[in-house]
Order: sequence, then C-alpha cells, then structure tokens
Amino acid sequence: MDGTSNHNSNSNPAHIILIPFMAQGHMIPMVDMASLLASSGAIVTFITTPVNAARIRPIIDRIENSHHPVRFVQLPFPSADAGLPAGCENIDLISSPDLFKSFMEALSLFGEQVKLYLTTRNPTAVPADCIIFDNMNFWVGAVAESLGIPHITFYGPSCFYILCAHLLKKHQVLKSIDDDYELFKVPEFPEPVEVMKAHVKRWVDRQGWEKLSEEFYNTEKSACGVVMNTFEELEMLGLDKFRKEIGKKVWPIGPVSLANKDLDSKAMRGKASSIDTGLLLSWLDSKAPNSVLFVSFGSLSCNSISQLVQIGQGLEYASSSQLSFLWVVKEADNSEEVENWLSEFEERTKGRGMVIRGWAPQVMILDHVAVGGFMTHCGWNSTMEAIAAGVVMATWPRFADQFVNERLVVDVLRIGVAVGAKVPIFFVDKMSEEALVKGEEVRKVVEKVMTGGEKGEERRKRAKALGEKARKAMEEGGSSIENLKRIIQSAEGENKHLE
Ligand code: UDP
Repeated sequence: MDGTSNHNSNSNPAHIILIPFMAQGHMIPMVDMASLLASSGAIVTFITTPVNAARIRPIIDRIENSHHPVRFVQLPFPSADAGLPAGCENIDLISSPDLFKSFMEALSLFGEQVKLYLTTRNPTAVPADCIIFDNMNFWVGAVAESLGIPHITFYGPSCFYILCAHLLKKHQVLKSIDDDYELFKVPEFPEPVEVMKAHVKRWVDRQGWEKLSEEFYNTEKSACGVVMNTFEELEMLGLDKFRKEIGKKVWPIGPVSLANKDLDSKAMRGKASSIDTGLLLSWLDSKAPNSVLFVSFGSLSCNSISQLVQIGQGLEYASSSQLSFLWVVKEADNSEEVENWLSEFEERTKGRGMVIRGWAPQVMILDHVAVGGFMTHCGWNSTMEAIAAGVVMATWPRFADQFVNERLVVDVLRIGVAVGAKVPIFFVDKMSEEALVKGEEVRKVVEKVMTGGEKGEERRKRAKALGEKARKAMEEGGSSIENLKRIIQSAEGENKHLE
C-alpha cells in the first residue's frame, strides 16, 4: 500500500490472526486492518466463514494477488446447531431478537472450530504470535489464554463511546436515573457533552441477555491491549483517559478505510455494489463540487415505509437548485410497496436525484469531489469514512454507539447537524411511529448541512481540516501507521518471549 509499504526485513515476521465479528460494520474494518498489517510487515491470517468469504471474494482475490502475506481461512459456522437457518452467518441475515440470541450461541460454538484450527493447525501455517479479535467474539479471550497466545481486543465503536460506557459502568450512573430522556453529564468524561439514558443504555442490556452483556465487558480483561479504528489527533482526550482507566495499551490505527487507495478497492469494499460503478461515477462527475448529499444508514438500520416517504419528501422539497442527492434504499430489496413508491419518486426527481437499491460503494462515493454532505446513522465506520473524506454530516442515529457518536460529531468536532432523532430503534425491531422524523425536519437539516451560510462554511472548513489530519495519520510516520508498527513489534517481542 502506498505510503505504508514497509515490508519488514525481519526474517521471522509476526504472524497475527484476525477474528472479526460477522457483521458488515465489523468485518469491513478488519479486512482493511489485514491489508494494513500486512503492508507494515506482518503475516496475517483472517478467519471467517463460507458465506462471509463469498461476499468478499473479489477483495480476497485482490489481496491474495497483491502478494501481501494475508491468508483467508474459512471455518464452518454452526448455524443449524443453534437453530438458525442454513447460511445465516452474518447478523444482517437475521430478522428477530430471538434469532440474534441464537446467532450469539452459534458464535460461541464457532469458538470451538477456531480452537480446533489453532491447535491442529494447517501443516503449512506459521504459529500465531498474536490474535486480534472483535470484542463481540467474547469467547476468544479464553481460547487464546488456553493456548498461551497473546491477544488484543478490537473495539468497533469510537473511543468516545467505549469510554462513556466504561465510565457509566464504573460509576453505576444509570441506576439512579429514572427519566430516559433527561440530559446528564458522564462523570470524569473529558469532553463537555451531555447524554440521555435512552441513548447510552446498551442494546445488550435486555432482559435475558445479562450474561452476554457481562461477557462483552470482560473481553478486554485478559487482552494485552486494545486496537481501535480512530486516530490520536481525533480523540486525544478520550484516548488518554481510556488508557489511564484500563491501564493497558490502546492503539488507534485509523481511519482504516484509507487503506483503500484506488477506485477498484474502494468500489468492492464490503460486498459487490448494487449499481454499475461506471454509471455512478459519470453521474457524480456531472455534478458540481460539494453539490451532492449522500444518504445512507449503514448495513443494518432499516426505515419503515412511512419513514422512507418522509425522507423522500425532505429530499424532494429541499430548496436549492444546486442540490442533488444520492440515496441508498436497501429496504427496496424485499418490498414491492417500497419499490412502487420509489419508482414514482425517481420520476419526479429525475436529474437531481439517484436511488441505489441495495449496497453502495460508500467510500468511493464519499471521496468524490461532488459529494458535499452525508446523511448518516452515525455508525462508527461511516463516521470515520466521512471524517477521512472531509465531508460534513447530517446525523440520524438509531442504536448502539450511534447517539454518542452524534455528540462527538455535532458538539465536539462541530462538523455535523443533528436531524433530531430521539427514540432509539434496535435494528431487528420494527421502527415505531414515535421514532418517525417528519419530512419537514429532514428538509430543514438537508438545507442547513448543504448550505447553512457562514456557519455552514465554517463547518465545511473544519471537516476539510479534519480530513487532512486523518490522511496524515495514515501516511508513513503518521500516528496510526506508527501504532500499527508498534503492534507488530510487540507481537514480534511476544514471539521471542514465547520461544
Ligand atoms: N457500507 C457500504 N455500502 C452500503 C452500506 C454500508 O459500503 O450500502 C459500509 C460502510 O462504508 C461502512 C459499513 O458498511 O464501512 C457500515 O458500518 P457502520 O459502522 O457505519 O454501520 P453499521 O452497518 O455497522 O450499522
């Protein structure tokens, strides 16, 4: 990879095993991490399952053909043993809270497969020096400890959110708050933000899920450190505080999306694009710089049909002759009702709007000069991708870390405008009427984020400056690339120790 190519001359390079959680928002950054570690001198083994490997087949082929030492290993996922339908190997394939629980059971059983693989080892495999695992794979700590392999937790969310969750638990704050929508400050939090219980209550804190919830908290206990998709310059105060709190190494190594330098790797990130990328690029090329709003809510969050109609109205009536939009509607995949409504909407907004049904090449889109704003659910990857691209955001969080990420974007970094969503919606739950945001609100925010006068201009300047810092962090000598090297060096050190 340009700027990061630093193939280790070490004759005994560190072998790092990556074990991602099976969700797009967790797999995608770990695929990037695999490339980044390999181009900084490590040998990488990436463990996944057949369905997930099939999704990223073009990326696997590309990485393997690049001669980077990354190997993708597929182990069977025990869906049937946990009562899941065959092939249900990613959380975007589950449709109800009950199935989510079964998925987590299957994941524990998958741990046995991983252990078997690590102990019997493919005869050509190099022994592992270190495992980097998503903290949702809570079982890895025990497996790695039993095999004496040093391990590092990967937290998918922002440090801002992880620290917030840590401090709330430490001070047992939520127990003393009755009103879900009362604003309060998080004790010891280094940034002056206020949050609401409804937004920081963890989504795993459901009745019957207590054990799972505790398991997630415990993953970092046996780990020798934490790796995150962020960068020092973005979350300096939070990272310092978090390091002090847990007394362990915390390595920010992002924005990992910047591992994808050329159009092809941006276009195939995550899974195959639902739209011809040539067509998409020529549409974007025909638009003025900063005139397009990109609208997408990640891989899991879904809108009800009434919410889609309201979003459509907001986009259609936003009054700027210059404003165009590119809207990803994954709900169109399975619904005739949505499809019928969309066809008419597209007819009315022809020329200034484009709808992508299904999966969009998000990083390619955000990096295009025509894109001036991003209406996002504030998933951490999407947030980091917007930051890396220097694009301002209209924030519309749904669940998990997203409301807290919104506070970072709007209150601390001041590169976003809140749509005003208040009621959380867990992705497998139906969108309630009380969570509905009216088209008129959407319209106002679209206009504000895409134009917004002097304040809008300042917001855009701040976003551009942050984008510069993000890119610097990922250049040779930049903070994130140096942290990647430190991880590899410490794995090499562990290797000597293990010998
Ligand atoms: N993504 C994409 N195309 C889509 C939807 C999502 O490339 O149509 C990618 C996006 O770029 C990001 C990831 O999927 O890397 C979503 O992760 P995020 O943390 O933003 O949200 P989640 O899907 O986990 O809610």
